[in-house]
Amino acid sequence: MDENHPDGFLRYPREPIGKRDPLERIGDYQEIYAPTWQEKHLRQQGERCMDCGVPTCTGGCPIGNLIPEWNDLVHRGRWRTALDRLHATNNFPEFTGYTCPAPCEPSCTLAYNADAVAIKSLERAIVDKGWERGWIQPEPPLRRTGKQVAVVGSGPAGLACAQQLNRAGHAVTVYERDESLGGLMTLGIPDFKFDKRQVTRRLDQLQREGIAFRTGIDIGTTMSLSDLRERADAICLAIGAQAHRDISVPGRELAGIHFGMTYLTDENRHQAGGGAVSIDAGGKRVVVLGGGDTGADCVATAHRQGAVDVAQISVRDQPPLTRPDDNPWPWQPRTFEQTYALEEGGEALYALDVTAFVDEDGDDHVDALMAERVKWTFDSQGRRIDKTVLESDVRVAADLVLIAIGFRGAQADSLVDQGIELTGNGRIAANEAMMTTLDGIFTTGDSRRGPSLVVWAIGEGRDAARHIDRYLMGESRLPPSLATQSPPTDE
Ligand SMILES: Cc1cc2nc3c(=O)[nH]c(=O)nc-3n(C[C@H](O)[C@H](O)[C@H](O)COP(=O)(O)OP(=O)(O)OC[C@H]3O[C@@H](n4cnc5c(N)ncnc54)[C@H](O)[C@@H]3O)c2cc1C
Ligand code: SF4
Repeated sequence: MDENHPDGFLRYPREPIGKRDPLERIGDYQEIYAPTWQEKHLRQQGERCMDCGVPTCTGGCPIGNLIPEWNDLVHRGRWRTALDRLHATNNFPEFTGYTCPAPCEPSCTLAYNADAVAIKSLERAIVDKGWERGWIQPEPPLRRTGKQVAVVGSGPAGLACAQQLNRAGHAVTVYERDESLGGLMTLGIPDFKFDKRQVTRRLDQLQREGIAFRTGIDIGTTMSLSDLRERADAICLAIGAQAHRDISVPGRELAGIHFGMTYLTDENRHQAGGGAVSIDAGGKRVVVLGGGDTGADCVATAHRQGAVDVAQISVRDQPPLTRPDDNPWPWQPRTFEQTYALEEGGEALYALDVTAFVDEDGDDHVDALMAERVKWTFDSQGRRIDKTVLESDVRVAADLVLIAIGFRGAQADSLVDQGIELTGNGRIAANEAMMTTLDGIFTTGDSRRGPSLVVWAIGEGRDAARHIDRYLMGESRLPPSLATQSPPTDE
């Protein structure tokens, strides 16, 4: 298979690493993905890459992963070099190889009129092999600069920023308000989508590289920003965007209505050995409000807890099955895709605008919600501007309602009291160098960008590290997220 076949895409169909059977996986909290894969199969998948002149896939990846390079290296069986090239742009390829929605794939040239290269599967396979072979080891810096940096928040943005800054020689301490590290990867995303061992082994690597972690410290409350500033030459706020968006309709105060994130965090703590769950879907009719990732994770968790019925309500219409004319390749498709959660069961209800929660038997607990079936008009940015009501008084029975309609922005009230400014949409305000309005205090990840994806958080963390390194040293050799200066290496 060493010979290069530029027509590999004609020889082999696209076959990503599969998922486990929905009927089997719904009975446990193990990862939904097939746990193993065959080397020959992945090498064939790598051979499907056409190595096009303009790799649109790389442009589709928010951190500019060098996709055609490692596709070819996998095809040739040069896994170690493939891992080096993957790490050149991505600190934690298993975070993305398992959780990324892979915006690179619809941008692959093959996707113009055929099936894209299985890029995400190749990424996962490379990093799986790296861990299995023991190639992923601590890489402490050769020299220390004597500068201290405090990173606030241990999600993917904070961890990527910390690792880059530490490798540049700065002494890095990560402050986390929670007792567990990893941000939404640990307390938001369920175990069956992302096993927490994937986070703990990276944390072990980071600790052995010399990064210090302090948990249970809420910066702005437990320790003031000015106290922290006195301890550090620079600070990076990577505090996420976890302020819930709520729904304001009659009956919102009834028992049995919770935020989806509260529900998922509760279950994640339970899975980590933190005692019984306080919100249990077992035996209940569950309604999830919101058609995004958080909503899907609520649906799948409710199934595993033994819900009798699960409905997921989206305020928008079901997307079209094929690309509309105004949404051509290589743009991200706005088409329907079945979620892993609804593959396992449950019903998706579209174009329902909730008008009230109702208590029908007078026990102050929700029994149903009422909604209007609507048709929306949109502005040129795809924002909803107006609705026509097609049907009113649609009733959906519910013993448990989970609100998963997005996030308002950063949870930063105490930091605002201490001088941090927010934008109109709740993000931490920063200039082009990612510095807030306070000198030496930077921000990155969801807290700067708004609620996003793990891959963007990693890229944001890398970029913030570069800006902080430059602030401290006057120049930086750390690469930005969309390009790499790391030279290729070989086995
Ligand atoms: C349920 C759910 C499922 C998701 N699924 C996916 C997915 O499948 N794929 C994907 O790509 N993305 C997914 N996302 C999005 C992804 O998890 C986030 O975009 C990403 O984690 C953001 O990283 P971050 O480091 O910016 O922030 P976070 O991961 O939110 O981490 C911020 C950290 O800062 C800490 N913190 C906050 N304030 C303070 C303070 N004052 N002092 C100290 N610490 C503080 C928080 O406790 C937290 O640990 C999902 C999100 C949710 C909610
Ligand atoms: S990080 Fe996401 S977008 Fe980038 S190559 Fe991997 S799967 Fe694709």
